[in-house]
Amino acid sequence: MSVKGSISVNTENIFPIIKKFLYSDHDIFLRELVANATDATQKLQKLAGIGEFKGELGDLSIRISLDKEKKTLTISDSGVGMTEEEVQKYINQVAFSGATEFVEKFKDIDTTSIIGKFGLGFYSAFMVAEKVEIVTKSYKDEPAVVWSCDGSTEFSIEPADKTTRGTDIVLYINADSEEFLEDFRIGNILKRYCRFMPVSIIFGKDSEKVKEGEEEKTIEKDHVVNAVQPLYARDPQTLKDEDYLNFYRELYPMAEDPLFWIHLNVDYPFNLTGILYFPKVKNDITLHKDKIQLFSRQVFITDNVEDIVPEFLRLMHGVIDSPDIPLNVSRSYLQSDSNVKKISNYITRKVSDRLDELFKTDRKTFEEKWESIGLFIKYGMVSDEKFFEKAQKYCLYKNIEGALFTLDEYKEKIQLNQVDKDGNSTFIYTSKPDEQNMFIRAAKNRGFDVLQMDSIIDNHFISNVEYKLEKVRMKRVDADTVDKLVEKDEKVETILTDDQKTKVSEIFKKAVKNEQLDLEITALSGDELPVMIVRPEFMRRMQEMAEL
Ligand code: ADP
Repeated sequence: MSVKGSISVNTENIFPIIKKFLYSDHDIFLRELVANATDATQKLQKLAGIGEFKGELGDLSIRISLDKEKKTLTISDSGVGMTEEEVQKYINQVAFSGATEFVEKFKDIDTTSIIGKFGLGFYSAFMVAEKVEIVTKSYKDEPAVVWSCDGSTEFSIEPADKTTRGTDIVLYINADSEEFLEDFRIGNILKRYCRFMPVSIIFGKDSEKVKEGEEEKTIEKDHVVNAVQPLYARDPQTLKDEDYLNFYRELYPMAEDPLFWIHLNVDYPFNLTGILYFPKVKNDITLHKDKIQLFSRQVFITDNVEDIVPEFLRLMHGVIDSPDIPLNVSRSYLQSDSNVKKISNYITRKVSDRLDELFKTDRKTFEEKWESIGLFIKYGMVSDEKFFEKAQKYCLYKNIEGALFTLDEYKEKIQLNQVDKDGNSTFIYTSKPDEQNMFIRAAKNRGFDVLQMDSIIDNHFISNVEYKLEKVRMKRVDADTVDKLVEKDEKVETILTDDQKTKVSEIFKKAVKNEQLDLEITALSGDELPVMIVRPEFMRRMQEMAEL
């Protein structure tokens, strides 16, 4: 018996839909088909669990194979399979109604991650195949069938001689897509999209050397692509530091070991698991950015977490898995989604708590890692209001001698010399310790403490602190004469007469061959520097602007 029919859809041909909306990333066809195979396998396991299916489960691995001569790629599972009726129902109808709905609803959105939700997953096969066959035998005692379609609206269903339970999806790869017949290419896609899928996926072979008596033999073993229970899905209580480090090394083989990590695990009011790592941040922040991978039920979705994770936390590395992040919506919708907001706040709070805990329980380690964590914390304080409040407790200030202080500790340290009677503190800092050595010495001789603010984020950080912290003024060590660095009520006497000042000024102007120079000359009493020439702050800024 053989059935022929017409697929019910308003659209003349499925290609326009597939090509138009899914064009951006062809690789995902494989994710969709493997996800379907995974679903079919898990359905069978569930049915076995409740006694609906009483047969042998057998080997439930999903197998991917390439035939370069026939130009086919086949995805085989031993899941529930489909009866002829189910093929009619699930493949011929549902997908297409989903497709039409999809086209109508979302005309201008990023589609790479939404296909599965619309019953379009299977049809993404036509992005790379000119013809697709589904050879399937249901777990129910019914004959196997083969469905075949060349991407037009015509399909056929015929009896098949498949005797084992499950489904083979055979793609006849089209001429434009022959890259998908390369082992290397398929291996990479599987690694990217399927590495944590919950059913074993086999692609290719690994050869292994074994000893048999005196002889050494090479045996071939199936190569399993995925970890069916990824570390983040396991109970944190059962895991050791080494497990977390190994997981990190697998995710980022080229990176240095991380500083520490947070295991995320919530199921109310949203569901989220994951591990976020604090990487060793070097001075180039962009190098570390956007390495977090987003999964949904162990299927890789994207490594663009822009709208889900707050800006500064995008410096972290690791994996987040949440079925509660809506994937079938546009960017602007995502930003206003309440779950996404909650998730974003939750992650920020967890990160802050972890830092707070480390600071409180192990300040020594915290200080040792400050070089890296500092960049991270300051970046967070600059870009996130809430985090600023929390991080104030553990953000450290480093002075020129290398000692680290919290805000309160530092205020306390400078209270004799750099705090006026109204309680305003002046923080004196250098952004160029080497070049400004002379100014630093002068300030120190005057009894002032000098902070070292020379990381890439510090410029930003300083203006932020000045703006947000009450009663704290930030002053560059070379911004004024040392006696005026800290605003005091008393007047500073200079021991130079006006005449002497003019003379020094003349000498200097001649030396630099610039008569127009606007100079302020101050002699410093009791200082090792006889005289100090400063450029007023506004002059410096004018020059900087002119240089831009
Ligand atoms: P979705 O997966 O989003 O429901 P698809 O177009 O990918 O949409 O698949 C439509 C339906 O076809 C699935 O819901 C499932 O019932 C059936 N199906 C697809 N692939 C398989 C498979 N390998 N084994 C059994 N059933 C399948």
